[in-house]
Amino acid sequence: MLLIGFLGASVFSYLASVHSIRESISTQQLPMTGDNVYSELQKDIIRPIHLSASMAQNTFLRDWLSEGEHQPEKIIRYLSEVKHMNDTVTAFLVSEKSRKYYYAEGVLKTVHEMAPRDRWYFRVRNMENAYETNVDPDLANMDKTTVFINHRVKDDNGKFIGAAGVGLTLENVKEKIGYYEQRFGGKVFFVDRVGQITMTSSDSKELGGSILGAQGIGTVANKILRDVDQEQQLEYTHKDGSSIQVNARFIPELNWHLILEKNDSEAISPFRKILLLNIAVSLIALFAILLVVMPAFRSYQRKLNDAAYRDSLTGLLNRPGLNNYSKLILGEFGVSERRCSVVYFDIDNFKSINDTYGHAAGDTVLSKIASLSNAVLRPEDQSARWGGEEFVVILPDCDLDEAAVIAERIRSSIADHEFPMLGGNVTVSLGVAERLDNESLDELLYQADTALYAAKMQGKNRVVKAFCNANLGSIEISAAMVSASNANL
Ligand code: GH3
Ligand code: MG
Ligand code: MG
Repeated sequence: MLLIGFLGASVFSYLASVHSIRESISTQQLPMTGDNVYSELQKDIIRPIHLSASMAQNTFLRDWLSEGEHQPEKIIRYLSEVKHMNDTVTAFLVSEKSRKYYYAEGVLKTVHEMAPRDRWYFRVRNMENAYETNVDPDLANMDKTTVFINHRVKDDNGKFIGAAGVGLTLENVKEKIGYYEQRFGGKVFFVDRVGQITMTSSDSKELGGSILGAQGIGTVANKILRDVDQEQQLEYTHKDGSSIQVNARFIPELNWHLILEKNDSEAISPFRKILLLNIAVSLIALFAILLVVMPAFRSYQRKLNDAAYRDSLTGLLNRPGLNNYSKLILGEFGVSERRCSVVYFDIDNFKSINDTYGHAAGDTVLSKIASLSNAVLRPEDQSARWGGEEFVVILPDCDLDEAAVIAERIRSSIADHEFPMLGGNVTVSLGVAERLDNESLDELLYQADTALYAAKMQGKNRVVKAFCNANLGSIEISAAMVSASNANL
């Protein structure tokens, strides 16, 4: 119960900690980091979107296009100023009429419908929205991955006359992502509407992979891509069994999803260590408690046992004690076939000892006789005080003759002992019986008692063997005297 209590408390507090850690990751850490990344992104993207819009609405630019693109150096100067004043990677204008691609350094090329790199222009040409954000390698900038804001340019009649805008590398955002990844110990990346990873921190995931069908995050990818209206808090299981908390939100300006994920195992690991420590401390405490309590408990149990099964005067087993012990030798219901014999003995003329020398002297005699008889027994023999001045000894694996020899040893050791306070000796009469037919203790004692009675009848201070004849269901017991000597009292 102590162990269950200790372990239960430790496991419960561990689970509570794990729950609160997950809660704090999913409701605080991830959303807050997401907000920070998003505001960094806005700083870098929103301004260029406004810039592209103002380029597309610029009257000089629109007039210059409508009036036939004369003096290209004027528009080139304009684009160069936009680029340098706003610190963008590029500023560009593509004319619908001439299909020329103007940028800060001149005319880069002419766009062609068939060229894969120019496909964006024809998409912008046909789209309904005023602008799009598009990630592409920039030809004018060593093919660095660049986010272009492509804005449609219309003339006064609303007719499409070209596309203008700026490009930015998002290197700044990438760096910031790396910084946040380090600070909150997770991953930050972007995916487009179909799940392709579009941007990660500088040294994180490779561009080009898809979260759809990917191990782990693939299980929540559909949910992430489906919901563009609200921030989502999701969870999936890593292949090592740890749980990953995911925060996802749609960034309309980029048409991308911003995804943050964090493995909670690192945050939980100290609590796992504390749990193990708690368990170890609990086991040690439990062990210490048992070490202190068990001896006291055992001695208390021994005392209870002694009180129930031992005679306080002689220290021998009492009647219940011997009954209990006999079950070991004879089996629970006397069914064991083990051979054994019993000796049943009674102090001769004990009444007169009590009457002459007092009850206390009688008690001393009882106690001495117990120790004298015990001293001549084999280690496997068990003696008990059966009644007032009657004793029983169980002798396992012992036949009648061997038992009679031991009984004679008891008799003579008592008879030879001088009791100073009595100024003489005390004798006992003994009956011996052997278990031949799986008798119970009571049946065996009945036979021994009959022999004891015979010993008393024959003049006391002697050993008499019981002979048991099973005859037509009745038991006839005869007794034969083994030894006798004169009773002193
Ligand atoms: P016998 O030789 O026939 O056995 O004669 P006996 O005097 O021993 O007669 P009996 O067995 O009837 O006497 C038993 C006596 O033992 C009577 C009782 O007062 C005494 N006695 C029983 N228990 C105790 C005890 O615990 N202490 C003392 N001092 N005497 C006890
Ligand atoms: Mg008696
Ligand atoms: Mg007696």
